[in-house]
Amino acid sequence: MLKFHNTLSDKLEEFHPQNDEEVRFYMCGPTVWSYAHIGNFRTFVFGDILRRYLKYKGYNLTHVMNLTDVDDRIINEARKVGKTIDEFVQPFIEAFWEDFDSLGCERPEIAPRATQHIQEMIEIIESLLIKGKAYESDGSIYYRISAFPEYGKLSKINFAGNIVGASERIDTDKYEKEDARDFALWKLVDKDEPTGWDASFGRGRPGWHIECSAMAMKYLGASFDIHGGGIDLQFPHHENEIAQSEGATGQQFAKYWLHGEFLKIENEKMSKSLGNEFTFRDIQSRGHSPTAIRYLLLSVPYHKQLNFTFENLQGAENTIERLRDFRKRLREANLRSGANFDLQNAAKNALRDFTTAMDDNLNTSIALASLHNLVREVNTALANETILAEDRPVIFEITEKFDAVFNIFGEEKAEMLDAEIESLIEERQTARHNRDFARSDEIRDLLAEKNIVLEDTKDGVRWKKK
Ligand code: AMP
Ligand code: ZN
Repeated sequence: MLKFHNTLSDKLEEFHPQNDEEVRFYMCGPTVWSYAHIGNFRTFVFGDILRRYLKYKGYNLTHVMNLTDVDDRIINEARKVGKTIDEFVQPFIEAFWEDFDSLGCERPEIAPRATQHIQEMIEIIESLLIKGKAYESDGSIYYRISAFPEYGKLSKINFAGNIVGASERIDTDKYEKEDARDFALWKLVDKDEPTGWDASFGRGRPGWHIECSAMAMKYLGASFDIHGGGIDLQFPHHENEIAQSEGATGQQFAKYWLHGEFLKIENEKMSKSLGNEFTFRDIQSRGHSPTAIRYLLLSVPYHKQLNFTFENLQGAENTIERLRDFRKRLREANLRSGANFDLQNAAKNALRDFTTAMDDNLNTSIALASLHNLVREVNTALANETILAEDRPVIFEITEKFDAVFNIFGEEKAEMLDAEIESLIEERQTARHNRDFARSDEIRDLLAEKNIVLEDTKDGVRWKKK
């Protein structure tokens, strides 16, 4: 049974999506004002592991990850270089997807851009104004926290006695607010400011928090299953998303809240503002492979901090090498016919251990340990020649299951898949020769499942992908 640590309840909870077969989930995406650093990517790789494991468990997904393409930093940076915000963000959006793909992350079903959803934001703000949960001050619109008594339920911050004078810490907006906790939904812009949109409540631009509420609810509905992001977004960003969304709809916004812990470097959070960041590109240009970076980022469970060092990265590089070596050896070994059921059972047990670990709030480090156990057993069997021909496809298939989630075997995969197909075809020929038609049909079905069609020709069996 899949369980997540839900930040909202601060408990490990069984996961039950609202609809049995489909999971709707939202991850806060990047602010596209520069190249993303590997701290950002730790959170996106966590999103990818969550995504892939949900698929592994058989769920269909609607996964939304936004791109924040308007905020104060973007506006300032674009102005500095004399570009529109669109011109300014475009190359960073392209770079982001390039890096994301290189890291072996699967793209979400929907990746909306904030600037293309301004109307949806305006509608939420209008409904909050009508309900008295938002107010205007000096041309900007603020959320009235006092109208949402549950404020603080996610971050568990107790605001009692901490309201006046707390504004510096909570929000650096310099505008007039009724209560220091109130936050901007819509910011007034000067007449000559090019970045602005007209709304019934005045020309302006959206606050950051409203972007995510609008895009999440547009694509996932008022109430959906999972909302995730880095731990630094828990407060105020996610707390504010809850206040706005639930304030507007009266329904529970997201049921499970998952937060990824920081990637640190020399025991400080990696961040652009501290200047201690390495972008994915920096690391790659030092000759490190994207797969090793991915391996390192996922090797520690998402809810634990991870300290980045180049030694760890080199360690990940070696591990990847070892895994690929194992696949290659398994592919190329000349195996005697027969089956070693002890070995096949050990492989099945390793997969069971993987599932148990991942079910436990995505414990990737224990899940990876079970893959390494399997590799060790198979390597020993290869050395002792106790692995037999019928074991190979079983082990390949199990390794593929691990890799559907980890995605660390990398580029060699396509080639290995061909070898795997060929080894199955060979096994089918032997089975037919021995009049073991049950096994031969089983192999044909297995291949058909993978969209491989077999053709018997006078020169032997040919195969092609459908
Ligand atoms: P941003 O582009 O700043 O909006 O951040 C994108 C994502 O990266 C957010 O989910 C942040 O929480 C996350 N993030 C930022 N710094 C780190 C870090 N050092 N470790 C892990 N996640 C981070
Ligand atoms: Zn967000």
